[in-house]
Amino acid sequence: MAVYQILTEPDQALRTQSKPVKNINDGVRRVLDNMRETMYAFDGVGLAAIQIGVPKRMIVVDPGDNFVELINPVIISKDGEKKASEGCLSVPGKVGLVNRALKITVKALNREGEEFTLEAEDLFARVLQHEIDHLDGILFVDLATHIREEE
Ligand code: ZN
Repeated sequence: MAVYQILTEPDQALRTQSKPVKNINDGVRRVLDNMRETMYAFDGVGLAAIQIGVPKRMIVVDPGDNFVELINPVIISKDGEKKASEGCLSVPGKVGLVNRALKITVKALNREGEEFTLEAEDLFARVLQHEIDHLDGILFVDLATHIREEE
């Protein structure tokens, strides 16, 4: 496994529309392992593949005690909303308020290529929505209000 450098604004790669993963093979699993290691190395709660320069639809998330990895994630339902503070490893030093769905259901593939659905709420749902946005080239600062510098 390896820790990767994280791309930061204004790197245009972050604006890429990531492509669906077609074949889930050892190469894909290696990227997932490296994403996981990189996320933890930088104390992140989530990471999208494009943040380490891989334009594929893969994310890893751990809001505290629940690591998940999702390939080709799609949000299939949303419920409620909540505005809360957010930051991003690719936008260092900035935080802002983002309105997100409070509860979501996501459909994705696991590393064996099996489909699963995941229900998430609050912080977990927020991180998933943030990471899935990365796959479409969207950064939280595009959606946030009250953006300010932190540290
Ligand atoms: Zn981010």
